Amino acid sequence: MSSSCDVVVIGAGIVGTACAWECARRGLQTVVVDECGAGGGATAAGMGHIVVMDDSPAQLALTSYSQRLWRELAAELPAEAEFEMCGTLWVASDEEEMGEVRRKQGVYASAGVRTEVLAANALAEAEPHLRRPLAGALLVPTDAVLYPPSSTAFLLRQAMRAGARFQSARKVISAEQGRVRLDDGTELRAPRIVNACGAESVELLPELPIRKRKGHLAITDRYPGFVRHQLVELGYLKSAHSVSTDSVAFNVQPRQTGQLLIGSSREYGAETPGVNHALLAKMIERAQDYLPGIGKMQAIRVWTGFRAATPDKLPLIGPWAGDDSLFLATGHEGLGITTSLGTAKLLVRAMLGEKTEIPADPYLPDRFAHNGHGAGNDEVHVHSHSAESSHV
Ligand SMILES: Cc1cc2nc3c(=O)[nH]c(=O)nc-3n(C[C@H](O)[C@H](O)[C@H](O)COP(=O)(O)OP(=O)(O)OC[C@H]3O[C@@H](n4cnc5c(N)ncnc54)[C@H](O)[C@@H]3O)c2cc1C
Repeated sequence: MSSSCDVVVIGAGIVGTACAWECARRGLQTVVVDECGAGGGATAAGMGHIVVMDDSPAQLALTSYSQRLWRELAAELPAEAEFEMCGTLWVASDEEEMGEVRRKQGVYASAGVRTEVLAANALAEAEPHLRRPLAGALLVPTDAVLYPPSSTAFLLRQAMRAGARFQSARKVISAEQGRVRLDDGTELRAPRIVNACGAESVELLPELPIRKRKGHLAITDRYPGFVRHQLVELGYLKSAHSVSTDSVAFNVQPRQTGQLLIGSSREYGAETPGVNHALLAKMIERAQDYLPGIGKMQAIRVWTGFRAATPDKLPLIGPWAGDDSLFLATGHEGLGITTSLGTAKLLVRAMLGEKTEIPADPYLPDRFAHNGHGAGNDEVHVHSHSAESSHV
């Protein structure tokens, strides 16, 4: 049995549903397929920090653009999306890190992102439970947080209102040359197919330069008001975070429920979702170092998820050379919740041959030389290189 439409989006994570909504509202007959439901995968595991990041100019452009799109959408989001513009505090523990605060402020200003430098006293007033002394912080007031599964459900509902159809519990077993074959034997035909399968994207396209990067998060019981902003350390500059394969960084988020979400860890080469207790202990220790009160709190759940990491830490958005029907919206590593809306705009404008609001080139999949090597191969050639990210 086969049916046809204009676009098939494979994957109903936050990226796939954002793309499906954009396709549908631009008048394209759209079908979204997911082997589970919507908002599982990395989306369910993510922290939901909507954050501007500046590891590279392209990352700054996409995160600030996407963050603006989230702010524009905020009034339409349902309460259960828990969108809150709580701001990020990039915490500096010494004068060297204050230098990074000032550098960051200059870079953010160049992208039109408002920030404020807080001295030690102002930081202690803003977040009384942080350890003292600390040197200060950079406040990014327009950064926000949201609950990714509910936000994804909202994006899917919007897509369906605009005419998209959703097929859940259907695994795609092949997608090429305008044909998408599902595990129940049916076939969908479409001139455009979007691979939005996150860390699983390589299963359908083994040449993709994507590696799984595992992360842990822990959530506490309710401690309302203990933390007011998303708190992230700047210390990664000096820590092993930038050089070792397994790393942790202090990253804590206040949830509307009063719970604290504690991150973060990064691991390559871990294929199974089980908790790495040694790494988890390091992650909690790091959080406790900045917020000593965490030691007295009750953690009620710990989980892991897999980020889809590319060699240059930028996503793959746009057409895939070699198959005119194939488009990619994947490889978002630790920023896919933030950049989902920007990704959708860039992708659909590329599909329709329209001008994009920010330059699309840095994210085009053809920046990687096609040398026939598989995912994660170190010989995949990258045209640009950026520094390590401290984000979850
Ligand atoms: C611990 C952790 C913390 C994070 N924190 C943040 C954060 O604070 N801010 C931020 O911006 N980002 C964060 N991220 C990153 C973010 O979660 C991801 O970048 C984002 O969720 C990726 O979304 P996606 O839709 O591309 O992939 P996914 O959410 O993984 O969705 C892919 C979907 O494709 C489906 N699928 C896969 N293969 C097939 C197939 N063959 N057939 C049918 N369906 C298929 C899966 O079932 C899944 O639903 C974090 C990630 C982790 C792991």
